[in-house]
Amino acid sequence: MTRHIQNRIKLRERQNGRCCYCDVEMVISNKPLKFQPANEETLEHLERRAEGGRNNRDNIALACRRCNAERGAMDWLTYKTWRRGEFYEFLGGLF
Ligand SMILES: [Zn+2]
Repeated sequence: MTRHIQNRIKLRERQNGRCCYCDVEMVISNKPLKFQPANEETLEHLERRAEGGRNNRDNIALACRRCNAERGAMDWLTYKTWRRGEFYEFLGGLF
C-alpha cells in the first residue's frame, strides 16, 4: 500500500467519511467522472496549488465531488461557511 493511500484512509477516519465542507456522507464509486454521484469522495487541496498550497497532508482534505467542483476560486473557509448556511452570520460578524 502506498503512503498516498494510507494518508487517504487516515483522512477518511478523521472526517468520519464526511465531506469537509457540507458534512455529507461520501461514497467511493470508482465510476468514470461523468457517472460519479455528487457525494463521490475526492481529494481537495485546501490552499489551491496555484496559490502556493503545498501537497502535504495538512493541506489535503476529503470533499464530496459537488463541493470540490463548486468551490471554484473561493477560499476554503469562505466556501465551508457558505455551504453550511452560516454565510450571513459570518458576514454579520464582519460588519
Ligand atoms: Zn460536500
